[in-house]
Amino acid sequence: MLIIYLQFLCFVSGNVSAIFIYKWKGEELVKALQNDSTVYVHITIAAHTSSRQANINRTSVLFVSITFIVLMVISLTWLVFYYVQRFRYIRTKDKISRRLGNAAKKALSKIPTKNLKCEDKEMQGDCECCAICIEPYKISDTLRILPCGHEFHKSCIDPWLLEHRTCPMCKMDILRHYGFVVSSPSSVSGYI
Ligand SMILES: [Zn+2]
Ligand SMILES: [Zn+2]
Repeated sequence: MLIIYLQFLCFVSGNVSAIFIYKWKGEELVKALQNDSTVYVHITIAAHTSSRQANINRTSVLFVSITFIVLMVISLTWLVFYYVQRFRYIRTKDKISRRLGNAAKKALSKIPTKNLKCEDKEMQGDCECCAICIEPYKISDTLRILPCGHEFHKSCIDPWLLEHRTCPMCKMDILRHYGFVVSSPSSVSGYI
């Protein structure tokens, strides 16, 4: 006598039912029947998902989760690196801008000025004017005379020089002329 407990997956099509069992269990059943043994079969419904499929699903979920976490870590690391570099670049740029501004103020203090008088050559011609504001020079105007020879209203050229540090006509660098060498912000490597 053989008692077999079967867990099965059932497939029904029309009037035909099919029961799926493991091969080794089927062979055991056939062998018992061939030996004329009495076979009692207790049939219960098995789970639809086999343990192997469950393992595969668990492995897939684990793989996707680990891949997602690794990608997140890489993205966050890159973002932190990018913003640290950007912050360092902006700080360095501000520092150099401040140094350039201070150097420009010192250079400005060395550039001579003059108050126009009636006998000055600027008052002799009728086309002498400030190239920045295009206003003709008048008596008692204060001019700034750059080392390159170009002249402008002091009130016009000073803000320009503090910002650009070069003559607007010939691009002469007043910092280089007076020996104030400050590295340019454009030479700073980094991200904008
Ligand atoms: Zn002017
Ligand atoms: Zn010039």
